[in-house]
Amino acid sequence: MLEYDDRVAVAVSGGKDSLTLLNILVKLEGRFPKSRLIAVSIDEGIDGYRDEALELARLACERLGIEQVVVSYRDLFGVTTDEIARANLGKTPCAYCGVFRRKAINKAAGMVGATKIATAHNLDDEVQTVLLNMMHGDPMRIVRTGPVLKDPRGKFLPRIKPLSDVPEKEIVLYAYLNGFEFQSVECPHGHEALRNDIRAFLNQMEQKHPGSKFTLQRSADRLRELFANSSPPSELHECEQCGDPTPHELCEACVMLGTIVV
Ligand code: SF4
Ligand code: ZN
Repeated sequence: MLEYDDRVAVAVSGGKDSLTLLNILVKLEGRFPKSRLIAVSIDEGIDGYRDEALELARLACERLGIEQVVVSYRDLFGVTTDEIARANLGKTPCAYCGVFRRKAINKAAGMVGATKIATAHNLDDEVQTVLLNMMHGDPMRIVRTGPVLKDPRGKFLPRIKPLSDVPEKEIVLYAYLNGFEFQSVECPHGHEALRNDIRAFLNQMEQKHPGSKFTLQRSADRLRELFANSSPPSELHECEQCGDPTPHELCEACVMLGTIVV
């Protein structure tokens, strides 16, 4: 996932996963003098939730001596997740928040001259997403995503998920044992209902049939191998609105922004 001279933008939210990832990467970085870590944090504009997490992220970066860059939805998109939630747009706030976060992390990573983006998705997140994609009728998305994403066209920064094989429980344990102060409050907008149901189902499966999550992850890996070269990557143009690379006239975030009236 990493090269000896990478400049890695680590997405740090202030939750247990991202603080664990940051601490582990700091240890690794110590062995590679030419590498560099920069924390990027996104302020989605969620009152009483994100402010606390951002402060915890700031303190962790300060303690570890890591530069931190914060970018906000308000500055980038002119709107916050709270405002989107209040506007009742028909889709869940997470649908917007997720797309905007990807774009915001890309922007922040570009600002700091990163060569790679590292995010703290764990095994549970990954297998939930595999099943979610199946439930949404979009199995090819499983093939297009995964622990390591490299754009053969070189338009997007490579994305890595170093914790994608680590169960959430082990991350919680690691974070507690190391005495990390992490955010424990849930987002007031909640997660997608379907993801919640899938999480509960997978936890039940894991309890009854230990190893289920790993097996599902390995199945997804096999699909990725099988389909790796099956279709050429789509051609990319510049988004007419923001100039970012997209296979369509407008990127997903700009399409969404066009539908928001707050
Ligand atoms: Fe955004 Fe949804 Fe996550 Fe809250 S739960 S931070 S609204 S994606
Ligand atoms: Zn755009």
